[in-house]
Amino acid sequence: MDNFIIVLYIVAFAMFIYGLMGLTGPKTAVRGNQIAAVGMAIAVIATLLSVLHTQNWILIAAGLLAGVLLGIPPARHTKMTAMPQLVALFNGVGGGTVALIAWAEFLDTSGFSNFKHGEEPTVHIIVGSLFAAVIGSISFWGSLVAYGKLQEILPGSPITLGRAQQPVNALLLIGAAVSAVVIGMGASGEGVSPWWIVAVLVLAGVLGLMVVLPIGGADMPVVISLLNALTGLSAAAAGLALNNQAMIVAGMIVGASGTILTNLMAKAMNRSIPAIVAGGFGGTGVAAADHTGEHKSAKATNAADAAIQMAYANQVIVVPGYGMAVAQAQHAVKEMATLLEANGVEVKYAIHPVAGRMPGHMNVLLAEAEVSYDALREMDDINGEFSRTDVVLVIGANDVTNPAARTDPSSPIHGMPILNVDQAKSVIVLKRSMNSGFAGIDNPLFYADHTSMLFGDAKKSVGAVTEELKVLS
Ligand code: NDP
Repeated sequence: MDNFIIVLYIVAFAMFIYGLMGLTGPKTAVRGNQIAAVGMAIAVIATLLSVLHTQNWILIAAGLLAGVLLGIPPARHTKMTAMPQLVALFNGVGGGTVALIAWAEFLDTSGFSNFKHGEEPTVHIIVGSLFAAVIGSISFWGSLVAYGKLQEILPGSPITLGRAQQPVNALLLIGAAVSAVVIGMGASGEGVSPWWIVAVLVLAGVLGLMVVLPIGGADMPVVISLLNALTGLSAAAAGLALNNQAMIVAGMIVGASGTILTNLMAKAMNRSIPAIVAGGFGGTGVAAADHTGEHKSAKATNAADAAIQMAYANQVIVVPGYGMAVAQAQHAVKEMATLLEANGVEVKYAIHPVAGRMPGHMNVLLAEAEVSYDALREMDDINGEFSRTDVVLVIGANDVTNPAARTDPSSPIHGMPILNVDQAKSVIVLKRSMNSGFAGIDNPLFYADHTSMLFGDAKKSVGAVTEELKVLS
């Protein structure tokens, strides 16, 4: 049976890795996800087989049932735009589980002094469990705050203790580390009071809250990815302690891929991870004040004018952003593009790596509307084309088109690579108002002479433009 279980685990690992490879491209992503899910099901079966002798089948069945009942409805019904908060919540639950496992192991083994009832505790068991307790607890509470901010239960703006923040965080970290060391030292003797593990969990938990509360909403998806990586590492540490290969491998995969994703997202936003963790950026949700003192006004347009401009263009570049996702305008966009193409206009889509609220957000939506992958262009490939493009149609994108990132050193997003939309001959922006985007800052593109604003919900506006195009064609 032991060998059979190991074979099942190896099959599961192979499927995780194969599935992950599928996630590197939109064409293979869904299948990749399914393969990894089947791998996880096999790992769960293998784990259940390894505890066949247990008396706790009712408890295990109740746990599985609770997970299924609580997990499936939100996963099925959550809108794509709310996916980051769902990921935060699921990730937090993972971290919390790891922390609880460490706690249970402590209680079950008299403070690790009697590991597996008679076995000598080894360093990797003690260090693995304590690492899992600290990081799992940070991840659980940090993820809950991230969820609260994205779901707007908590204010998106930074909540800080001011100058006291860093010393308080340092004290919490030292407190958690000292409590863990006390447990580690007691493990080679009679064990220590159970309150020490409670101290580890509480201090690490408060640290998780304190680290994430000062971080603004704009950085939250990166923080979620970082917490995700930490959850993976804590699961791997717990796997070391429990001698469970599935937890080690799956935890390391999550830790490594989460770290890579965090770096990619931070790079695409031109933010450093330490700057993000230091907090204080974004999430105010209001336009920044105009420090120039100039009176700025934007030019409004209507669907008929927008349709005429596009119908007579050689090339139109569509720049989708978060607003397209909110409006669920992707099918309407595809219909409009098909009509333009039928009239001889070349249509391309410019995809910024952090457009929307998660990496690949725009690709997923456009793939859902069956937009050809060949028409999608990444930022570096298309940026040179804007200057020779007649019309750019910005659909619910804001920050990713903000030229201040290139031209204004005082802008909070200065240095972030953007789509060079402002270099096109004519720009039409579809959004509902002059409100700012996720970073909470004004966008000079909207006031440029060659920019006109088509106000309204993106889906309705695109639909209206399509109707006008039908009249013209
Ligand atoms: P933004 O958040 O900058 O702007 C979205 C715009 O959409 C808003 O200005 C809003 O204006 C408009 N909008 C909202 N709802 C609708 C609607 N129904 N119809 C029409 N317009 C609508 O989005 P971007 O995609 O340009 O930028 C993404 C932001 O998210 C960046 O700041 C990025 O750094 C950040 N981010 C993204 C991550 C990712 O992985 N994708 C990760 C981390 C951060 P109005 O209210 O006036 O309609």
